[in-house]
Amino acid sequence: MSINIIPTIDLLYAGQVPLIPAYAPAPNGQMSDTRGRLLGDLRISVTDRCNFRCTYCMPKEVFGKGYQYLPQSELLSFDEITRMARLFVAHGVTKIRLTGGEPLLRKNLEVLVKMLAALKTPDDKPLDIALTTNATLLPKKVKALKAAGLNRITVSLDSLDEVTFRAMNDVNFPVADVLKGIDAAHGAGFSAIKINMVVKKGVNDQDVVAMARHFKGSGHIVRFIEFMDVGSSNGWRMKDVISSAEIVRMVNADMPLVQAQSNYSGEVAKRWNYADGSGEIGVISSVTQAFCSTCTRTRLSTDGKLYTCLFAQSGHDLRALMRSGKSDMQITRAIGLIWNQREDRYSQLRTEETTGRKKVEMSYIGG
Ligand code: SF4
Repeated sequence: MSINIIPTIDLLYAGQVPLIPAYAPAPNGQMSDTRGRLLGDLRISVTDRCNFRCTYCMPKEVFGKGYQYLPQSELLSFDEITRMARLFVAHGVTKIRLTGGEPLLRKNLEVLVKMLAALKTPDDKPLDIALTTNATLLPKKVKALKAAGLNRITVSLDSLDEVTFRAMNDVNFPVADVLKGIDAAHGAGFSAIKINMVVKKGVNDQDVVAMARHFKGSGHIVRFIEFMDVGSSNGWRMKDVISSAEIVRMVNADMPLVQAQSNYSGEVAKRWNYADGSGEIGVISSVTQAFCSTCTRTRLSTDGKLYTCLFAQSGHDLRALMRSGKSDMQITRAIGLIWNQREDRYSQLRTEETTGRKKVEMSYIGG
C-alpha cells in the first residue's frame, strides 16, 4: 500500500466536529503523521461503563453513584462502528482492539466481532481483532466471541493477593473470578493470553514476583505496566511509579530473564524471556522509556470521537460527520487530515506540569 502524503491543510472545527474542506484531497494509501508514523492500530471503546472501579482508572470518588454515563443513543451502533472501521482499514489499519470501560458489558459484543471479522485489508487479508477485558464475564461470552472471529484476548489482573486485588478493583471482586475467566478463554482456544498488571508503588509492587511465578510456564504472558497519569482522576504522582527496569530486576532475581527481540516495530511491550525457556514477560514503560516514536495507535471513543493519543485533551467528532450524512469519502478526508497533522508524543514530553492537565479518561477511550 502506498504512503499517502496530504499537503498540510488547516482543519477547522465547529466545536469538536471537523469541517472538511471540499478541496482536501482524498487519501489513497496508508496514512503517515507528521513524525512518519503510519496509522496501523485502531482501538475502539464500545462502552464507558465498567463493573470494576480500579483506583488508577475509574476511582469511585469520581465514577460513583451519581456519575452520568453516556445514554445508549450516544453510543456508536455496531453498524456505525463497522463503517468507521472499514474506512480506517482502507487506509492501513490491520489491528482492531475492542476496549471500554469493560467491553463485555456491551450487549451482544460477539455480533460486532463478527461484523468486524468480515472486513478485509486492501490486500484481502483478515484483520487482527483483539479484546481487553477484566475477564469476569468471559466464562459466559468467550465461546461466542471465538466463534465470531475474535483472535486475541488481554486480561487486566493487578494482583493475585486477594486483599490487594479487591482493594484495587474497589468492588471487592475476587481473584478467582478473573482466573476462571482466563481458564475459560484458554479452554475456548485462546493461547498466549496477555495478562496486564498495572504496578503502583506501595500498593501491589510486592505482588510482582508472585504474578510472574504463577503464569510462568503457562504459555500466557504477564505484562507489567508502569503506573501512568492517564485521565485526570487517578491522583498520579511520579513517586508512585515503579520503573520497568526495577520490575525486571525483581523478577530476574527470582527467575532469570534474558531480553528478547520485539515481535514487530511499534510493539508496546519490551519482551523478556525466562532463561530456562519456560515463557516470557513484558514490560510497558510509558513513563520511564517512552515509545511514542513508533506509536501507530489511534482511539475511537464510545460516542465516536477520535483521539490520536492516550493522553489527549480533546478529540475529533467523527460521529457527527456520520450522523449528519457525510459520505465515506468526506469522512475519510477528515480522518486523513487528522492523522496527517498528528504530532502527539505525550510520554516523551511528560513533565510535572503536563501531568496536571485535563486529559481524556481512559475508561472512556480505553487503554
Ligand atoms: S503517549 Fe500518545 S503518542 Fe506516545 S505512545 Fe502513548 S498514545 Fe502514542
